[in-house]
Amino acid sequence: MYSLLIKGGNIIDGTGNPAYKADLAVQGDKIVAIEPTIEAAAEKVIEADGLFVAPGFIDIHTHTDRSIFEFPLADSKVLQGVTTDVTGNCGIGLFPVASARKTELENYLGMVKGKLPEGGISWTDLNGFAAAVESVNPGINLVPLVPHGSLRIAVMGSSDRKPTDQEMQDMEIILADCLNQGAWGMSTGLIYPPGSFAKTDELVRLAQVLARYGAIYSSHVRGESGTLLQAVDEAIQIGRESGTTVEVSHLKAIGKPNWGNGVKALQMIEEARRQGVDIWADQYPYEASSTSLTALIPAWAHDGGVAAMLQRLVDPSCKEKLITGIGLEMNVRGGADRVLIAGLAAGADQELVGKTVQQIAEILGLTPEETVMQLTIDAKGGVSAVYFSIGEEDLETILKNPDVAVGSDGSGINPTTAEKATHPRSYGTFARVLGRYVREKKLLTWESAVRKMTLLPAQRLGLKDRGMLQAGLAADITVFNPDTVTDCAVFENPHQFAQGFEYVVVNGILAAEHGRLTGATAGRVLRKA
Ligand SMILES: [Zn+2]
Repeated sequence: MYSLLIKGGNIIDGTGNPAYKADLAVQGDKIVAIEPTIEAAAEKVIEADGLFVAPGFIDIHTHTDRSIFEFPLADSKVLQGVTTDVTGNCGIGLFPVASARKTELENYLGMVKGKLPEGGISWTDLNGFAAAVESVNPGINLVPLVPHGSLRIAVMGSSDRKPTDQEMQDMEIILADCLNQGAWGMSTGLIYPPGSFAKTDELVRLAQVLARYGAIYSSHVRGESGTLLQAVDEAIQIGRESGTTVEVSHLKAIGKPNWGNGVKALQMIEEARRQGVDIWADQYPYEASSTSLTALIPAWAHDGGVAAMLQRLVDPSCKEKLITGIGLEMNVRGGADRVLIAGLAAGADQELVGKTVQQIAEILGLTPEETVMQLTIDAKGGVSAVYFSIGEEDLETILKNPDVAVGSDGSGINPTTAEKATHPRSYGTFARVLGRYVREKKLLTWESAVRKMTLLPAQRLGLKDRGMLQAGLAADITVFNPDTVTDCAVFENPHQFAQGFEYVVVNGILAAEHGRLTGATAGRVLRKA
């Protein structure tokens, strides 16, 4: 007797091979058989006629490591077919922790969503973080990366300088410790302080540690607008000099003057791969990006961390230089009417959420640059923003590429979040690729799209037991309706679950049934062997 039997569905197995009709049987947490017909009994039988049966989606780029404590079921992810979230991205995450710098780290984490657990951070390493996650009974699997920004804070705080020899060695040792505990790689966020303070040689040294463990180097590169191509070149150099696998996160070119460079960056990545560098990319399917409003504040003003930046924002002697820097960056991103405030931390006027910087400037009677400063001061740096600044042609060319993985850059949340405006990608990424770009625009086949969400990210991470439908592998399965799969979340109304995901199975347990969560908590923190 099987625990679960999925009958009569079209199997899209994750490899990119054509779909075929078959039954699929699960016993415990494993797929045990895929046959034209399976007659044996099962505790639970799902009739999947007319539905696609795919591996559970692996979201290679998420920030669910903080939100998991507030939303352990990761509702917005499961209801778009995701069964595994890769966490610790963009250099931001919840370990490693040096006790003396815990507050500094917690301030840094203001950039990502979700409440920290009661009492804040109470661990120092991956083992402690994983135990904390497992204590809240997660509904999906997490694949933790070591965030370089957090690593740097643990060793040398937020200062804008090179590490000393001793600090460099300490970072290498702590990184190796995390990898020994089962981390899958390291991420960098080279536009965010303190990651932005790191020079290439520091990153090569750390990537060499990754190479020894066969672990991935995943990077939000040093620039995604005017300096995108140099930034991708740096990622290629890190791959070449370290020999480790490189993943360029959320590939895009921000700002109208730079449209077309997204495609050029993709060509550089493919050319480097032909020359033997193991470099890849992922992408989310939206024309707007979302990050902290502080991305508009010039780099020099971030030296010393959030508290020091807030000091400079109220220092009259810095004002002129700040206004010039903010104005330049805002222009590159398309102007004040293309920057939407998506969330404001306590202390700021919540009525301003959902409005553009231009609209808020008019309400407050300030210039747009002053508005950016005022909002940042009021919310103590906790301002998230959406930037409508990505070209559709770059987006579609990158999306059509069969070797670019799908990654949301979002978090597993649900509509009870205090953050009423958010980027719809947390709810809609995978559904949008399937509904809008496969079914409607026919930019790629179902099989190719599913591979970009499953086997492709699994192979890059070295996740050997997931990403494919095959007897013996983990039973992470997504059953969706190709006629109805749709993303419903939009910028004006983002807290809308995707549709068309009939059943989602995590480690053999039904996490969603008839498009609703079951409440099951079968997720795990996965460790690299
Ligand atoms: Zn990023």
